[in-house]
Amino acid sequence: MGYRKEVRKNKFEKGGDSMTNIALYNGILMPEIGFGTWKAPTGKVTVEAVKAAIECGYTHIDCAAIYGNEKEVGLGIKESNVDRKNLFITSKLWNDVRGYQETIDAFNQTLSDLQLDYLDLYLIHWPRPVKYHDNYIEKNIESWKAMEDLYKQGKIKAIGVSNFKVHHMEEIMENCEIKPMVNQIEFHPSCLEKEIRDFCKKEDIVVTGYSPLANGKVFECKELVEFSEKYGVSIAQLCIRYALQHNVIPLVKSVTKERIKANLNVNFVISDEDMEKIDKITTCGGSYKDSDNILF
Ligand code: NAP
Repeated sequence: MGYRKEVRKNKFEKGGDSMTNIALYNGILMPEIGFGTWKAPTGKVTVEAVKAAIECGYTHIDCAAIYGNEKEVGLGIKESNVDRKNLFITSKLWNDVRGYQETIDAFNQTLSDLQLDYLDLYLIHWPRPVKYHDNYIEKNIESWKAMEDLYKQGKIKAIGVSNFKVHHMEEIMENCEIKPMVNQIEFHPSCLEKEIRDFCKKEDIVVTGYSPLANGKVFECKELVEFSEKYGVSIAQLCIRYALQHNVIPLVKSVTKERIKANLNVNFVISDEDMEKIDKITTCGGSYKDSDNILF
């Protein structure tokens, strides 16, 4: 258990609880549980959810241009009155945007929507959007060079990728000056992505895990009930803890205040034996998208 890098406890000014941070290879600290915003609707619900999350102690918020709600997330951040330096904000470059200047422009749009003047992490959302680009390797490299320059200018504190398989990582790494610091992938019981996690571990690249609750499908997985009862926690808490014990930073989404709060309460330990049993469960759903063959 535990990350190879330094682990520090930070007590943030706002937010009731302390949040453990892990260090990326460039020393930037990332809070070990993130708040997801996919499918959080435009309008007040999302503004209030973001405010509730920050109030409860989340300091890490996962956004993306394609979610269509960065203005609401930005408003929630602003209205929370939290010191910007105590937050870790991620966004992602969508599939229809590739190229040097195009990436700079998309990044600036995201910053403007979020009402921020820098991002903590910016990711290429998917490696191979065949719908928009044939020559994806070349296009990713152009975008990556723009991200490297934004990083050098201090406008992004860390740069990374999402949904990248080993070969996509290698294609970037062979052609880049700064290797990715993070890869964001789907991770939950029944979706373990061991090959890419092993690769990232070897390369000192932090793995963040999206859909830690399989976008809600884990609640239909009967095999998890035994473990949630054993530890006296909800299935959501079990899955969030499960990700942490696999050295994956869970990014969990909710717009429901009680759930937002409860999802941070994961201060228990799943035994090694039970981790192995949960590893073997295959019925918890998942999107199982092949990132070489996406249609969006
Ligand atoms: P998730 O976090 O796995 O699950 C969210 C669902 O679970 C929502 O329906 C939520 O409902 C419900 N939920 C949350 N906590 C609960 C609890 N304690 N009890 C019962 N239900 C609960 O889903 P996700 O949105 O797919 O993934 C999380 C985040 O990862 C996203 O929001 C996004 O930021 C990121 N993501 C990234 C990618 C990528 O390609 N990089 C892809 C997917 C997701 P309510 O909201 O109604 O409470």
